[in-house]
Amino acid sequence: MNQPRAILTPKGERWFRSGHPWIFRDDVFSVDKTENGDITALFNHQNTFLGWAFYSRFSRITFRIITSQPHIIDQAYWRVTLQKAIEGRKTLLDHSQACRIVFSEADGIPGLIADWYAGHLVIQTLIPGTDNILDKFNDIFHELLHPTSILIRNDLEARKVEHLPQEVRTISGQVHENIRIQEGSVQYWVSTMEGQKTGAYLDQRENRLHLGSCAQSHGKVLDCFCYTGGFALHLAPKAEEIIAVDDSAPTLELGRKNAELNGFSNIHFQKKNVFDYLKEADKQGQRFDLIVLDPPPFARKKSDISAALRGYQELNRRALRCLNLGGILNTYSCSYNVTQPIFLEILSHSVQKARVRAHLLEKRIQAGDHPILMNFPESYYLKGLTLKVI
Ligand code: SAH
Repeated sequence: MNQPRAILTPKGERWFRSGHPWIFRDDVFSVDKTENGDITALFNHQNTFLGWAFYSRFSRITFRIITSQPHIIDQAYWRVTLQKAIEGRKTLLDHSQACRIVFSEADGIPGLIADWYAGHLVIQTLIPGTDNILDKFNDIFHELLHPTSILIRNDLEARKVEHLPQEVRTISGQVHENIRIQEGSVQYWVSTMEGQKTGAYLDQRENRLHLGSCAQSHGKVLDCFCYTGGFALHLAPKAEEIIAVDDSAPTLELGRKNAELNGFSNIHFQKKNVFDYLKEADKQGQRFDLIVLDPPPFARKKSDISAALRGYQELNRRALRCLNLGGILNTYSCSYNVTQPIFLEILSHSVQKARVRAHLLEKRIQAGDHPILMNFPESYYLKGLTLKVI
């Protein structure tokens, strides 16, 4: 039989049975008739079938599990899997809204991301397995969603590890320079071609909506790492004044357009490194009633953790010092290496170092269209904490 196949070590088999979707190189005993990206049948030493997985020749993660069922992995299989993912997002798939339709392993399609922006679809294939069958996914998306356009945003660092090329291309329809999105009562422009990620930080949608709806009045607000105004736009109707800080000029330009689109004149965008901004603000005695900290991931690798901890601690300590009594800190980490207990510990230290007292009001997670797979801790990456200085 010419079927690509592999045998896992006993340790690999135990790991597989835990439901974790990654098999590392050391846990693979042998690989047979398998090319980079092939859908491969996995077995144990007793020749018992374990499941199907995508093979990656260059990554440390040699196999990404598709399923442990003995299905035939064909067009019909992918159609059913995508249909399931789409059904889970039904209420969000309205024509003016944006959401993530496929979140890789958590939706049973390792290495595939698909984001929906008011009828326009943006796809990323992170591994050779999904890259090889991109055409199949496109056909199914066309059939199930009738998108206005499909854009491939394959300009991610993760593809370099897999020796895949960097590319951005439109494969159907016409992609507009900016797409207008409705998020609750707020509208904003998204640049799917040039924006970060696939254009927007959809994982923060529920947290933005929630924070915006929380208080009667937000007073003086500081939105740090504001991107195109995400949190600031939701807070503006109830704030006296908002300072929104980011160090990316094109991002701030779109932020200003977004404020204008919603008729907000109380958001002041500033191009600055947030660490420097907070240091100066503290020195000048500037005080805020609400501060949002939504930094990029500081710990992309395990080896980055200790530097990341120092970074998060400094950031949060400085922000806490810039809050009025009764002020609120809404702080996030999107590094999956910084787990929720670690993030809580960081905040405890930050509170002590800032010499303030604070209540923990709330813990938050990523939006529901980025589901957390409990067998796969890496899928739980976004943690939020809300503190009140007392
Ligand atoms: N809160 C945003 C998403 C933030 S993403 C939203 O809801 O849409 C992180 C942002 O941090 C990016 O826009 C990036 O440009 C910015 N950034 C990264 N490092 C920075 C730094 N040191 N100072 C200021 N901005 C930074």
